[in-house]
Amino acid sequence: MSPFWEKFFYIFTWIWQGSSYLSPRAYAVLHRMHHAYSDTEDDPHSPHHTENLFTMMWKTKNIYNEVLKHQVEPEARFTKDVPEWESFEKFADNNFVRVSWGVLYSLFYIWAISIAELPGTHWWMYALLPIHYLMGPVHGAIVNWCGHKYGYANFDNHDKSKNTLLFDFLMLGELFQNNHHKLPKRLDFAARWFEIDPTYPVIRMLEKLKIIRMAKLKNA
Ligand SMILES: [Zn+2]
Repeated sequence: MSPFWEKFFYIFTWIWQGSSYLSPRAYAVLHRMHHAYSDTEDDPHSPHHTENLFTMMWKTKNIYNEVLKHQVEPEARFTKDVPEWESFEKFADNNFVRVSWGVLYSLFYIWAISIAELPGTHWWMYALLPIHYLMGPVHGAIVNWCGHKYGYANFDNHDKSKNTLLFDFLMLGELFQNNHHKLPKRLDFAARWFEIDPTYPVIRMLEKLKIIRMAKLKNA
């Protein structure tokens, strides 16, 4: 994508991820590490090298922060061509900014449930607020834990990656971990006729709108 769209999506990502904003740069570096070290000791988030879901996420968070704050310098192969917008990431990662998003979410819940009493809202829905504060980590926990633990495998990737669902409506295609580890550069995470990756049509649409251009890849 062009530098304009890159900046646009940095900001767009921040708006939608809000309180649990993930730096695209740090995320990309961690993701490449995950592919290189899948399900080994050096994998930033393997369910097979950690006691439980929470220790896995805690380890991920620590590595993420080290990469984000340049406390460790990852190998060149993990940072190659990864864009960085340092001033914006500093702002979006700021705790005051994160908490402000949380306050906004809470005010919206209070307004929708208790003040406007919108149809379909119930008291118990306040219990969803913590998930809303932590959308990113919740998503990461589901993908990284389930995607390397539960499901079936189309390919032997010498790791424990699995396809968890046939139609991944839950994580929009990210639960096709087994396919994705075999064909990491392929944009459609579905590999067999009965599998559906709902994000792929969105990517195609972005290309039609000339927002992105798909690279022609040999191994896709
Ligand atoms: Zn994976």
